Amino acid sequence: MQLRYYHYELAFRHPFTISRGTKTHQPTLIVELEHRGLTGYGEAPAISYYHIPVEKMIYDLESKRSFIERFAFTDPQRYWHYLHHLLPSNSFLVCALDIAAWDLYGKLRGKPLYDLWKLDPFRGPVTDYTIGIDTVDKMVAKIKETPWPIYKIKLGTPEDLIEAVAAGIDLFDCVLPTRNARNGWLFTRHGDLKIRNARHRDDTAPLDEQCGCYACRHFTRAYLHHLQKANEILGAHLNTLHNLYYYQELMQTLRAAIEAGTLAASAERLLAERKRYNSALSPEQSAQFPDEDPQ
Ligand SMILES: [Zn+2]
Repeated sequence: MQLRYYHYELAFRHPFTISRGTKTHQPTLIVELEHRGLTGYGEAPAISYYHIPVEKMIYDLESKRSFIERFAFTDPQRYWHYLHHLLPSNSFLVCALDIAAWDLYGKLRGKPLYDLWKLDPFRGPVTDYTIGIDTVDKMVAKIKETPWPIYKIKLGTPEDLIEAVAAGIDLFDCVLPTRNARNGWLFTRHGDLKIRNARHRDDTAPLDEQCGCYACRHFTRAYLHHLQKANEILGAHLNTLHNLYYYQELMQTLRAAIEAGTLAASAERLLAERKRYNSALSPEQSAQFPDEDPQ
């Protein structure tokens, strides 16, 4: 086999910002394996926080070149095993050569890999594209460029969810409903309620009259207040049940509104309802609880 490689600085369509900083290019190594007149290609991006720059990959390739080329290539699995021992501290390079070997293997047999692997190319998992941190306008513009389902991580308050759904986001995950529940911070359709506050001590109403969750159907605010003050674990359980129920119901309402074509009106109504209670809270009542655990 013959080894060749190419070093690229691949330009991003948009500057990409995450908490570690902003990048505009991706240093990438493309490796090429040639055998019997056919070529296979693989790639390895150099991710700065793994401290394996392209130069290091090239250095490792050159120092093992004769071993990489000398291998009697029959099947890629054997080759991977060989590479894995040849380059134990550079798994990016092993991956790039492995991909190139599989590409070559398919070409040598005159078949696409999905055929050799007996996969249906139309039923694979969708790939992903990270939007990164940016201004809201720019993030929305980036989202609209891609036709895939949109998954927003680390969201958020009910207001965030309503606004994000209106902006076209499909999936979310967040610790907020459960973490806040453990701290006695309850989300309801009329706003947020801090069950620890003295105003709930003798209140025999449920958290939310309209909520169908187990906590609201069986217990009073006074009881939940007592559990929270006494640091009873049952309080955290019941509060969590309620918050998750509330979030599920909120998303169900939004899904139904999308299907009925009434999302804009429903979002406006839900936001107005939420404001009703929140705007009636004193600053002390609406003060944030400290984070219980970092996200
Ligand atoms: Zn409830």
